[in-house]
Amino acid sequence: MSNDETEQARQDSIVIIGGGHAAAQLCAGLVAAGQGARLHLVCEEAELPYQRPPLSKAYLKNPLEVLQLHRAEAWYVDAGITLHRADPAVGIDRVRRTVRLRSGTELAYAKLVLATGTRARGLPHLPHAQGNGQDSGLSNVAVLRSAADALRLRTLLDAAQHLTLLGGGFIGLEIAATARAAGKAVTVLEAAPRLLMRSVSPELAEHVLQTHLASGIDLRLGVAAGGFEINGNRLAALAVDGKREPVELMVLGIGVVPEHTLASEAGLACDNGIQVDALLRTSDQNILAIGDCASFDEHTSGRHLRLESVQNANDQARTAVATLLGREEPYRALPWFWSEQGALRLQMAGLMPQDGTRHRRAGASSASFSILHYAQDRLVCVESVNAPLDHMAARKLLESGKSPSPELACDANTALKTHL
Ligand SMILES: Cc1cc2nc3c(=O)[nH]c(=O)nc-3n(C[C@H](O)[C@H](O)[C@H](O)COP(=O)(O)OP(=O)(O)OC[C@H]3O[C@@H](n4cnc5c(N)ncnc54)[C@H](O)[C@@H]3O)c2cc1C
Repeated sequence: MSNDETEQARQDSIVIIGGGHAAAQLCAGLVAAGQGARLHLVCEEAELPYQRPPLSKAYLKNPLEVLQLHRAEAWYVDAGITLHRADPAVGIDRVRRTVRLRSGTELAYAKLVLATGTRARGLPHLPHAQGNGQDSGLSNVAVLRSAADALRLRTLLDAAQHLTLLGGGFIGLEIAATARAAGKAVTVLEAAPRLLMRSVSPELAEHVLQTHLASGIDLRLGVAAGGFEINGNRLAALAVDGKREPVELMVLGIGVVPEHTLASEAGLACDNGIQVDALLRTSDQNILAIGDCASFDEHTSGRHLRLESVQNANDQARTAVATLLGREEPYRALPWFWSEQGALRLQMAGLMPQDGTRHRRAGASSASFSILHYAQDRLVCVESVNAPLDHMAARKLLESGKSPSPELACDANTALKTHL
């Protein structure tokens, strides 16, 4: 590029790094605002942006299931977006306002948006298996984050009789339930004394535990797993509470880490993710960060948070559109999340208070209920199991700031929506 061309591009371009949920929504919002021709979308993966939630659900279950793309390629082309696929960004020069891609391409920007998501956590004491299971060199160890991971796991799972899951988080439990429904023997090893320790109430965790145990999953809590025994390119066994357990196929479900390498190397402030303000600007006003990789001060609690959910990616993308167009619309969305684990449909909205009271609202059957969390007499969070109508009403209550008393809200003879 000549100096003039670089200057022209810098004045106009919005470069988006990351080809996931947040990036796809950001593209949609900016295209709707007539900004498509200004956009460069830089994707590490070869695929166009696709929906990740099905990867641990329908996609894993059904060999005929295909990736659900956010938009077809023609949409990006028609919108004037320049796509850079399978060509990750490898460096940001904040002084020259350029991004360098692995291929050597250099993109000048007026505004840059980081939507780099997270990476699956590896195990430092498991040789070769740090980061991505696909790169681990161990042919029977997998992680699940990307489409390539999902395809590999589907193939491995199809051939296996027994699956060991290290970690009992949401995605791990979804995989466990899917594998169990396909007739596999499944063992889940969780180090914490209960499931989903930081994400759900003890009541919900217990219900999830009992449901999985009843389905035949060998789910063990409070276990110490280690002593990995490698044989050639396979993980042969591990020690669980000191006892040797053979491994046929193992999935690492021990969480994710925010992908903020580029941001850190460029000197942006990072603290459990790339730090952003309410307008999603990083410590450099020309650079925004959104989605799983961004951490922010939540407006109601002041807690410094990083959320890993489709809702957060979508809503932050909307805020970023406003910021990029010069409007100040601070991020104030209510967090919500869902998970499907076999017969369990879990939905959560709001943030669990550190000190609060919990009240149970019965649903249509014993396998259906909601837990309502109150902080100083205010409804602040709702968790539901197989109770979508109650959950939808509760979410609307939370969004509108309405707070029926626990007695009224838990009267199962009165529809929750009556209190709206
Ligand atoms: C298997 C699975 C099941 C899930 N189920 C649910 C669910 O049921 N409900 C729910 O709410 N959420 C679920 N989630 C979480 C949800 O998918 C994420 O919160 C959401 O995808 C976050 O969007 P994002 O754009 O921030 O990150 P991602 O969608 O992870 O996208 C980040 C992208 O950035 C790319 N990238 C990283 N570094 C670079 C670079 N240097 N250059 C270019 N590109 C780069 C990555 O390759 C990736 O494609 C699930 C996630 C997974 C993996």
